Parts: sequence; C-alpha cells; structure tokens
Amino acid sequence: MLTIYNTLNKRKEEFKPIKEGEIKMYVCGPTVYDYFHIGNARTFIMSDIIRKYLEYKGYKVTYLMNLTDIDDKIIKKSIEEKKDARVVAENYINAFFEDIEKLKVKKADDYPKATAHIDDIVAMIKKLVDKGAAYNVDGNVFYDVSKFNEYGKLSGKKIDELESGARIEINEAKKNPLDFSLWKKAKEGEPFWDSPWGKGRPGWHIECSAMSCKHLGETFDIHAGGNDLIFPHHENEIAQSEAATGKHFVNYWIHFGFLNIDNQKMSKSLGNFFTARDVLKTYPAEVLRFFFAQTYYRGPLNYSIDLLNSAQKGLEKIQNLYERLVQESKNASLTDAETDFDFKPFYAEFERAMDDDFNTAQGIALLFDFSREANKYLSDSSKLNKKFVEGALQFLNKVAVNVFSIINTEGKQMGNSIEDELINLLISIRLDAKKNKNFALSDKIRDDLKELGIILQDSKEGTTYKRA
Ligand code: AMP
Ligand code: ZN
Repeated sequence: MLTIYNTLNKRKEEFKPIKEGEIKMYVCGPTVYDYFHIGNARTFIMSDIIRKYLEYKGYKVTYLMNLTDIDDKIIKKSIEEKKDARVVAENYINAFFEDIEKLKVKKADDYPKATAHIDDIVAMIKKLVDKGAAYNVDGNVFYDVSKFNEYGKLSGKKIDELESGARIEINEAKKNPLDFSLWKKAKEGEPFWDSPWGKGRPGWHIECSAMSCKHLGETFDIHAGGNDLIFPHHENEIAQSEAATGKHFVNYWIHFGFLNIDNQKMSKSLGNFFTARDVLKTYPAEVLRFFFAQTYYRGPLNYSIDLLNSAQKGLEKIQNLYERLVQESKNASLTDAETDFDFKPFYAEFERAMDDDFNTAQGIALLFDFSREANKYLSDSSKLNKKFVEGALQFLNKVAVNVFSIINTEGKQMGNSIEDELINLLISIRLDAKKNKNFALSDKIRDDLKELGIILQDSKEGTTYKRA
C-alpha cells in the first residue's frame, strides 16, 4: 500500500488515484529568468524519482511542469540584459531543458507556459470576478480572500494571524492585505495582453490554477513543489481553483524540503547558490541524484562539497557492481544453472521503503545491502552463473537505473576521469599546505594550475575548479 504525506491533511495517507491505474501530477516549475540552482534541482530530481517510482508501480502518470515565462523578475532581467522579455524567457527555457536533460530528469508530458495560456487565465479570472470572489480596482484585479472560508487550510495559517503578520505586500488598492493579484495592470514599457480590465499581465498564482485545470482537470491527484510554495502560492492556487470550479482541487500535496547552505535556504535572492550547470561541470548527474536520494525528501538537506565527494565515493560501489555485472553478462563460459540468489526480498524491501512516502534514503541503503550480497556471488565461482547475473542486472536496471537514475549505463568510469582525480588531489595538497601556512606551495599549485587552464575557486564550502 502506497502512503503519501499529504501537506493538506498533515499526515501520511493511503494513496488512491481518482481513476484506477492513472495519476495526474503537476509540479511547479521554474521562473525562467536565470539558470536554475541545485536547490531547484532537488525539487526537480525528487519529483522525477517519485514519478518514476509511480511508473514502476504500473501507473500511467501524466506529468506536467509549468514554466513561468512572464513575471517581475523576467521583466527586471530583460531591462538588465537589454533584451525583450520574451527573448530572456526563451533563452532560459532552452537552458532549463538542457540542464534537466543532463540531470537525467525524464521529460514531462507537457511544459505549459503562462504566456501561451492568457485566454485560459483571463477566463478563470473572469469567472472569479463574476462569482464575486475577485474585484477590479482600476485595471488591477485582486482575489478577495474574505470570500473563501477555507483560506489557510493548506498552510494551517489562520486569516487573522496572517493579517497581523508583517510580510504581506501593502497595497492601498486592496480591500484586505491578504488579497492577492490575479491581473496586474501594465506599467509603461512592460509586456501586456488585452483583457476585460484593460492591458496587463497575469499574476503568478493564477497561471498554475488555470493551466492545471486546463490540462489535468478541475480535480487531480498530486500537486508538488518546494516547501516555500506552501504559502502563499499553493494556498492561493487552492483558493482560486476551488472558488472558480466549486470542486475540490487536489487530493495529495507533496512538498520538498530546502537544500540549505550553512543551514540557510539556497536561493537566488540570498546569492548563496550554485547553478546546476556549474556543479555538473565537476560532478556527474548521477552523483547529484544519489546525494539527494540519500535523504528523505521532506526534510532539509545541507549542501557541501565534502558531502558531494562522499556521495561520489559511495555511489562508486554501485556503479562498479553494475559494470562488473555487464562484463559477466558477456562471459560465454558461465553456466545456465538455476541461481539460489533470492531477489524477491530485495524487491519487497525496495517497495516497502518507497511505498512509505517515497523513503528513498532506505531505498538507497537497500542498494548497498544488495551490492554486498551480489559481490559475494561475483567472487564465488560456484555461485556465479548466468541466471544470477541476469537477475542482478534486472534488479539494478529496475531500481537504480529506471527509478533513481544513479547509474551511468554507458559503463564509463563513474565520476571523475583520472585528470579530475589528479586535480582534486592537488586541491587537497593545497589545502594541507594552507593549513600549514605554506603559502608559497599553495599559491604555486593555484598558479600552475591556472597556466594549464584550470581555475580554482575558493568558497566557504570548499574549493571547486573550472576550465578556462
Ligand atoms: P523558482 O524558480 O524559484 O520558482 O523555483 C522552482 C522550484 O524549485 C519550486 O518548486 C521551488 O519551491 C523549488 N526550490 C527553490 N529553492 C529551493 C531550495 N533551496 N531547495 C529545494 N527546492 C527549492
Ligand atoms: Zn505553481
């Protein structure tokens, strides 16, 4: 039985899809004004693993991720880059696709864009205005929170507490400080679309309500995103969708914990981020995926280069096992005898862990147990036979390749080339030199590497390098 921690009801619940055998899932995607960072990558990768596990269980999953391609941040960037907002969005959408492909994230069934759904968004806002759930003030349309009795049901926040909170945007035009923008009147020089309320653009929350409704229906199974989206984004999505349709919006809400640096959320606004693009220059996607999968998705996770390095070391064991098995699968001298290796408990244990709210941490621990047992068979000629090799490869393919995607099936040496290993060795010698105040040596290593086109970058988290 699959159980999911549902943010809406604040407990683990048995999962029941609306339609037998099918799941409709929506994940809030990026605002495309920059390359995404590895905090965003945690959300994209963990939702990818959840989707792949649901597919492993035999569900037909329709998986949607939206692209927010019109937003204050995109407009700001377009002014900085002196480019049209559409060009800025298009460039970062392309970069997004390149990066998630490198991260081995399976393509969504669709990536709906806000700017391609203006008609649907306007229609939903109109419905809300007609029902008295939203109001227009001089071309700005706001959602009237006081009309939605259940406001706060996702985040567990009470309206009166929220009203006294200081973090709410002050806007004279709003009836209530909690009311939020559905339609923003165009300012001079900003991109705009026509609407019954004049020229303007949609607010952020309404795009997810309108696009999920259009593509997945008024009620669907799973909605996911990072913890930061519970309030106000998802709270507002519920208010909009349920007021517009009169139906229950989403059955299961899944939220991912933050990737932190020094116990602080990694975010673009704090500037404490590493882009996935940069990290992928040093670490293969498999290492990053393994690093995330080692931790239960709901809790926070600290990022450091040391942790990534030890993830890389750990993962090598599983990669080596896989490569060894591939080699043996080509070994013509193996016998056809039945194997006494029992694969069933490993599948059962994997499913038990993942059925328990996608406990990937236990799923990964199980892979190490499996690898220990399988290695015994590989080193014992009386046990090493074709059936064992086939069964072991099948297990790794189903679990480590298809669900976690942490194995490089092309059989290339996992992780770093010998050249990367040597650079890392020099980096650690340089660190020792610095500790011993041998700055002549540490500077020499940095300068000599620079001459070879390897630029070292020091930060609090450690030293990384890039090629010039
Ligand atoms: P954004 O581009 O900021 O709208 O974020 C895209 C997705 O990444 C959203 O689902 C966010 O909740 C999620 N996200 C942002 N920062 C982090 C973080 N530090 N850790 C985990 N997920 C994050
Ligand atoms: Zn959203």
